[in-house]
Amino acid sequence: MTDVSAPSRTTHSEALFARAQQLMPGGVNSPVRAFRSVGGTPRFMARGEAAWLVDADGNRYVDLVCSWGPLILGHAHPRVLAAIDRAARNGTTFGAPTALEVELAERVVATFPSVEMVRFVSSGTEAAMSAVRLARAATGRNAIIKFDGCYHGHSDALLAAAGSGVATLGLPDSPGVTAATVADTLIAPFNDVAAVASLFDQRRDIAAVLVEPVAGNMGVVPPQPGFLEGLRALTRKHGALLVFDEVMTGWRVHPAGAQILYGVTPDLTILGKVVGGGLPAAAYGGGRDLMRLVAPAGPMYQAGTLSGNPLAMAAGLATLDGLAEPGVWQRAATWAENADTAMNLAAAAAAGIPVTVQRVGTMLTAFFTDRPVRNYSDAKGTNKARYNRFFHALLDAGIYLPPSAFEAAFTSSAHGDAELSHLQAALVAGMEAAASLDA
Ligand code: PLP
Repeated sequence: MTDVSAPSRTTHSEALFARAQQLMPGGVNSPVRAFRSVGGTPRFMARGEAAWLVDADGNRYVDLVCSWGPLILGHAHPRVLAAIDRAARNGTTFGAPTALEVELAERVVATFPSVEMVRFVSSGTEAAMSAVRLARAATGRNAIIKFDGCYHGHSDALLAAAGSGVATLGLPDSPGVTAATVADTLIAPFNDVAAVASLFDQRRDIAAVLVEPVAGNMGVVPPQPGFLEGLRALTRKHGALLVFDEVMTGWRVHPAGAQILYGVTPDLTILGKVVGGGLPAAAYGGGRDLMRLVAPAGPMYQAGTLSGNPLAMAAGLATLDGLAEPGVWQRAATWAENADTAMNLAAAAAAGIPVTVQRVGTMLTAFFTDRPVRNYSDAKGTNKARYNRFFHALLDAGIYLPPSAFEAAFTSSAHGDAELSHLQAALVAGMEAAASLDA
């Protein structure tokens, strides 16, 4: 008789993860990649092809993470590859200025009227940290307000969140971040203008309000009408700066950014992800008077060996060129809209399991709840166990979603009809898996 039971075989991803865990904390170089939130073994990726990822075992997935945002044209886009190749042949870094930096700066300034000057750095963390330094330098004040559940990179002062509910003082989110470092970081619930007003009433030393204008790091949470406008009015009234962290939202919630979509103009803007086209680049920028405080034009020091790296500038420029072609951005947004519809239909078919899909432009999140999610406390109240079932069912069916219930999914212009059909088929199993858990 033939033994038909499948031999238990270690996958390449499992073998690589075992090795990686001996060498790198948790086996990864950025925590969410380790699948701790959803459980299971992370897939080690071998390559990306347009809208698809191929893992070390040859499994193929429709990629709805897109490297957490940058790949709005999809993987290995020929135009981006050609630009990187051209740049690399001329040398990979000079530590001296290049024409590519000027060209990308011109592009950023043309996209965001609030940005008259820009400084390129290598990560969103650096950009956010530097923007906070600039806000403090410009105002001579120390405190900043951020929102519970908004992420601005892992610099010490910004690694603070708070208990849900009332606005409160920031508590360190990580050992190693001292209480003193976050003592000037004040936390308010997202979408709560009154909480911000109350912080301004309590403190005279607030330099800036820092916000993801569409939150992406608690899953996609749009600003409610009046929220961003309220922040603008309060910051103006109290002489503080309004800082939009558009690392995620830039070129994603709108062909430009959230500040154009919602018509609210910040003093400083933080960019990342798409601006580097999949290579390490980020930026902060604003009005000339503010940016002239940055060294060497002014006294606020900030520098970087690889800042404005020619490969990253070339990839960013090629990506923005590709996005500017007619219909390209809209293709990614329409695909996200179709995915949103497909998720709702599949949820309705699976015994009406409550799902709230929140989407702005090319970013979306399926929350397992019947209520809108307005802030981090709402997000934490959604059914995470159901998301985890959903995630694994989709992964098994060849769809790569963010491995956490509180993250945004991202689409690209490379996502087309074939990928949508693949998603629709996978969603049937995904919603059934989620529905199989008691609420
Ligand atoms: N700001 C926002 C809104 C982000 O989403 C992120 C990263 O996801 C960052 C800042 C930090 O960027 P980076 O990971 O490039 O340091």
